Formats: sequence, C-alpha cells, structure tokens
Amino acid sequence: MTDPTGRPDGTVAESDAAAYERWGPEVLAFVADYWRRLERLPVGPDVEPGWLRSRLPASAPTSPEDVERVLADVDELIVPALTHWQSPNFFAYFPANTSWPSVLADLVCSGTSVNGMSWATSPAATELETHVLDWLVDLCGLPARFRSDGPGGGVIQDTASSATTVSLMAARERAGGNRRLSDLTVYTSEHAHSSIEKGAHLAGFWPEHLRLVPTDDAFALDPAALGAALADDIAAGLTPAYVGATIGTTSSMAVDPLPDIAEMTRRTGAWLHVDAAMAGSAALCEEHRGLFAGLDHADSYTFNPHKWMGVGVDCSVLYVADRASLIDALSITPTYLRSAHHDAGEVIDYRDWQMQLGRRFRSLKVWFVLRLTGAEAIRSMIRDHVEWTARAVDRLGSDPRWVVAAPPMLDLVCVRHVEGDDRTLEVLDAVNESGRALLTRTDLDERAVIRICVGARTTEWRHVEALLDLLDELA
Ligand code: PLP
Repeated sequence: MTDPTGRPDGTVAESDAAAYERWGPEVLAFVADYWRRLERLPVGPDVEPGWLRSRLPASAPTSPEDVERVLADVDELIVPALTHWQSPNFFAYFPANTSWPSVLADLVCSGTSVNGMSWATSPAATELETHVLDWLVDLCGLPARFRSDGPGGGVIQDTASSATTVSLMAARERAGGNRRLSDLTVYTSEHAHSSIEKGAHLAGFWPEHLRLVPTDDAFALDPAALGAALADDIAAGLTPAYVGATIGTTSSMAVDPLPDIAEMTRRTGAWLHVDAAMAGSAALCEEHRGLFAGLDHADSYTFNPHKWMGVGVDCSVLYVADRASLIDALSITPTYLRSAHHDAGEVIDYRDWQMQLGRRFRSLKVWFVLRLTGAEAIRSMIRDHVEWTARAVDRLGSDPRWVVAAPPMLDLVCVRHVEGDDRTLEVLDAVNESGRALLTRTDLDERAVIRICVGARTTEWRHVEALLDLLDELA
C-alpha cells in the first residue's frame, strides 16, 4: 500500500497509525477503568505541594519508553494527585462535566489535529462550529440575533474568561477604541465573577473606571445602584462603555435583573454582556427560560457547555448580536493569513473572533455530544440536579444547625453553620478531608458559607443523600 504522496509503507504516518491500533484500545481501557473506579476514589487529592515532582526523574528521557510503563505511572503518580471532577461526589466549585461522546470527539480532534484558525485552514472546523452554535441558539431558545445568518453569530472560546475579555475588547472598540480609554467606564456587580475585572484590565480599561455595583439581599445587582453609578459617571463627563450582568453568579447563583439592566444600558449606549457560565445550560429547559428574560437586548452572551452540558473542558460559547465590533477589535490580517474567500468576505475566520490565532476543533465535542447524547438526556440531567438540590434545601433548611445563606437557585445551595464561621469551616474541612465529597467555600454578607453544587453528570440522588448524611454527622 502507498499513501497519496506515493511514499511506500514504513512512513511516519504508517507507524503512527500502527501505534494507534496497538495502544488505542489499552489507553481507552485505562480510561474506562478510571471511570469504574471514580466513585470509590477520594474526591480530592491527599498530597502535599511537591509530591509529584519529588517522584519524577530530574531529566527528560532521551529514548522511548514503554506505553505500559507510562500508563502505570499515570495510575501511580498522576491519579492520586488529581481532583476527580467527574466523581459523583464532586459538589465543589461549578462542575466541569465531560461525557463519553465528548471524550471520543476529543480523540478525533487530537487524532486529526487541525488548526482551524481560519476557514481556509480547515473549512469543516469553521462550518461545523457555526452550525452547532446556531443549533444551540435554537435549542436554548436564545435570541435569534445570536444566529450566524444575520449580523451576529457564535464562536467557541476556551473559557468564559476569554469570552468576557474579547467582549470587553469589542465594547472598547465600539466606544471609540484605545484612544478613548481615559473616558470609558465599566460596570458589573460586586458578585460578578473576577473574570470581568481581569478582562477589563486586559482590555486596557482603567482600574479606577471599574464600578463594582452593590447587590441586593439576594446578591443580585441592585438596579438603582447601577442607575446612580451610570448617572454620576455621565455627569462627570465619562462614557459608560460596558455593563456585565450575570445569570447565575459563582458564589450564590444569583440572577441579576436583566430587563432593568438592559433598559438602563440601552439608554447610555453601553455594551451589555451577559455571563451565564454555569446557568446557561439551564436554558435548554423551557421552565428555566424566564431567568434569561432581557437577553434579547444583550450585545454579547457567554455560557460554558463545559460546565453543565457534558462537553469536556474547554468549551465556552460566546454569542454576539453584531460581530463587526468583535472583528474590528481583533482582526489583523498579514499577507500570510489572507485567502481569496476571506478577501471576498465569503467566510468566517474565527481567528478574528478570539485573542489567539491557533484554535482546536472544539465544535466536534459539541456535535458528538448533541448527536450521541441528545438534548433530551441533557435536559433530564439538569432537571434531576435541580430537583435533588430542592430536596437538599428542604432537608438542610429544616435542620436548625444550618442556615440557608442565599435563595437557592437551580443546582446550588449555600449554607452556613448557625454557630458561626469557625464551625462552618470546620465542617467544610472535615467533609473534604474525608474524601467522601468535595465542597467549596464562599463568603456572603461577610460570613463563611459552604456552597453545594449538585451538578456532576455522574451524581445520583443517593450521592446527594450520602453528602447530606455526612453533613448531618459532622454538624
Ligand atoms: N463566570 C462565572 C459566573 C463563573 O462561575 C465562572 C467560573 O466558574 C467563570 C465566569 C469563569 O469561567 P472560566 O473558567 O470558563 O473562565
């Protein structure tokens, strides 16, 4: 057999192909075994800093080793120093769910390893991305202006942080560009994710022009405070350039009052960005669409299929209502990146929608997940999580030792111990040290709080019950 270039057998490609056939099944068997063991593994690692490095050779190998040896080391050295994000006992942070269709898609992505920086560098990588992101607009009931068949469209970013950062850059561009930075102001709630503040720094906005707007009793942005901040700045001769609203804050899953925010933002001409990194997947379910009211006024919107849709990290979707500002902010086309289709404006070049040039073929993961899982199964997982969270709220809320510290929302409940911060943190540490579950802390109203996010795809009701029993035991 010869390959299309006429080279005989024995080429590098042939020997790589043979290696995939020989070792692919073994590596997949390792992964399958990992998934079988997941439930029994302590969720968090029990290692001190430097644990792994002290066990690795000081210098890199100079000749090939056996795959079996490397896999054995993964088992002995890597797995014990992992946090098992796919564990059914993972209730920490927000989840980073993957699923077998996503893992298989990642194999195809790595196995073909294209760089889809522009349409010309792999037309399928661009067109599949455009297509599945249009599917998601329809599946989630998002505003039609985010579809690619008008001036808007979607793009996959690595993370919500990148999505938010490029939205800030687009807003800066629309407001007049770098030269106007001394006038431009940015607004978000004091409970917004830190990625908005970080993105504002990266986009060049002045730190003293970032307004962290106070929140109400439910930790949602207070529209009156936003209105006052906008008015003060305008009176001082500044120009509001960007308002970042959140549907589902990290600390407590609070939902900012988007219709009010949208109205105020519209009056000032500022860019409205909506961050629904975690909660965004809930829009797959009709009954949660009310949380997204007002989104049709947003200039940009991001959510993370890598959190709650079973598409492995990294996959964050950014939609814009009008892609022109994004492209104006990010497009630089040297000769070596030009193509006839680009020059004719016939194609999307996603390199102009992101900070980096190179990009992985991430839409494969979304495509595989939607085709092999189906939207209905994802909806049903989300509904289970929401229902189990409500049951957890009932149980914790009726236990006098616990105070539910924020209005429960979707799959997150926040509690604090009635005896105060020290007890709250003692219980949190004891849960995490037990290895039987993993939880994280936040602070609300200056008090330490335990966040319980029932969002791991592998979690069943019995795992939530086991966590509640453990909390009962330790409280
Ligand atoms: N926005 C919100 C509301 C989040 O909860 C998070 C992370 O949990 C982020 C943004 C940042 O996400 P990423 O890790 O994708 O940058």
